[in-house]
Amino acid sequence: MPTLIAHNEFNVYESAEARFESAARRIGLEDGLYRFMRYPNKEITVYIPVTMDNGRLEVFIGYRVQHSIVRGPCKGGIRFAPDVTLDEVRALASWMTWKCAVVNIPFGGAKGGVICDPRKLSHGEIERITRRYTAELSDWIGPERDVPAPDLGTNEQTMAWVMDTYSMHYHHTVTGVVTGKPIDIGGSRGRREATGRGVLLVCDKAVEKLGWKRESTRVIVQGFGNVGSIAALLMHQAGYKIVGVADVAGALYNEAGFDLPKLMDWVHAQSRPLAEFPAGGTRLSSQEVLFQPCEIVVPAAIENQITSENAHRLQARVLCEGANGPCTAMADEIVDKKGIFVIPDILANAGGVTVSYFEWVQDRQGYFWREREVNERLKDVMEHSFDEVVRYAEIHSVSNRIAAYILAIDRVASVLKLRGIYA
Ligand code: NAD
Repeated sequence: MPTLIAHNEFNVYESAEARFESAARRIGLEDGLYRFMRYPNKEITVYIPVTMDNGRLEVFIGYRVQHSIVRGPCKGGIRFAPDVTLDEVRALASWMTWKCAVVNIPFGGAKGGVICDPRKLSHGEIERITRRYTAELSDWIGPERDVPAPDLGTNEQTMAWVMDTYSMHYHHTVTGVVTGKPIDIGGSRGRREATGRGVLLVCDKAVEKLGWKRESTRVIVQGFGNVGSIAALLMHQAGYKIVGVADVAGALYNEAGFDLPKLMDWVHAQSRPLAEFPAGGTRLSSQEVLFQPCEIVVPAAIENQITSENAHRLQARVLCEGANGPCTAMADEIVDKKGIFVIPDILANAGGVTVSYFEWVQDRQGYFWREREVNERLKDVMEHSFDEVVRYAEIHSVSNRIAAYILAIDRVASVLKLRGIYA
């Protein structure tokens, strides 16, 4: 097994590989399996010509990386962001493989991305990018092949366009090609809230394990999009005290706690800047808020927020990763030495893909569940997965993060051994 050194702390692919390798070494994963699992199955680059609103033709670059089909079709979001790179998409695709295995759902991992800035594009331009990207990938995605979902910069509307474009190419409606769709076109009840709800469920498990009470647990959430705002709202409703919030433009910290329904209304219904919320407390930078006093910190925005440079400043006792890769591999040791209880991304934010799996099942059945059923099943999966990760951490004497990787690698390896490798 070659030695991998993370040369660039901020290259998320190197961070992902470093964790994979650490877990693989720990369980003495045999060399052939190690090589097979390390590399993606397929990487696709597409060049997307789009007529902009001003009549100019622009070409955008898009990727889809399919990391694994060992346990089932590929599954993973599509990200629209200006700083998307192939390495980032690779890392996110491999995390999806491990995430699906941690929560034991029958998917492999994939991820897609388009280099564009949705904040600077019109509705029509985003639609045209989405449709042409989908058309270029139409041979490679599908309910049995690879099932995209929303991620940073994409949402239910984007998924509706993917579904429609794919369906037009196949001449019939194929709802199961994407998840995270609007409910009226085959989406699942509870999907929009699923990732945030998953964050709440694993935080509840950590709080129970540590013998705390929700009411005296202060929480900071960075990111106020799908994951962050819903996690903060549900945790507030469950009794936690949300003392810090942030979006890309700034953060607020208030020991007295925020009124989340009012803040949601301010930001989402009224489209006002989060950092200008009245009676909002101290204004801070989006990153600085992570290092304020609290019991639980939930980075739920982007990658590389907690690094070897700043990890020593964390004051939280629980780090629950709502985002993918918010903590670099080089920060892991510092976080562990501080005795912080980590709920790693491949467990903490797996609620989204779990309900995506439920959505895919419902689409294939053509029979839709009540929200209560979705939430109950999600609770079962998240709680059981949390217990399994903690159990693995104890058995192997490793951090929760490496335990989650070991659990995932074990599950993928055991299916690989049964199937055999067609080499
Ligand atoms: P989103 O686009 O809905 O929201 C992102 C939020 O992060 C916004 O509030 C934005 O202002 C904020 N943000 C962006 N850059 C920031 C910065 N530098 N500092 C602070 N805040 C910043 O995206 P999302 O769907 O909520 O995804 C957030 C993270 O969760 C991503 O890492 C994504 O991969 C991960 N994730 C999402 C889902 C899902 O179901 N949406 C599932 C699993 C993991």
